Amino acid sequence: MSDSTTIQTAELRQTRLQAGMYGRCVECHRDIADRRLRLRPHAFVMRCQACEERREQLRGRAAGVALRRGRFSPYSSVVSA
Ligand SMILES: [Zn+2]
Repeated sequence: MSDSTTIQTAELRQTRLQAGMYGRCVECHRDIADRRLRLRPHAFVMRCQACEERREQLRGRAAGVALRRGRFSPYSSVVSA
């Protein structure tokens, strides 16, 4: 809860509007559905739903592989504490 964060977000959004980037997917450069922008009005929606989901899947798979190999655990700090 901070006014400065809100102002910063608005300024960044304004910058993106001026740059013509807002509402456009950074990966496939298609317009992001208005519904998606309205769902996350304060978040930076940089990808369309399809690209976002693909990204989530890739990240989840990579984390799963790392966990199985025992190289990385997001819970390690909690467990060892
Ligand atoms: Zn996309």
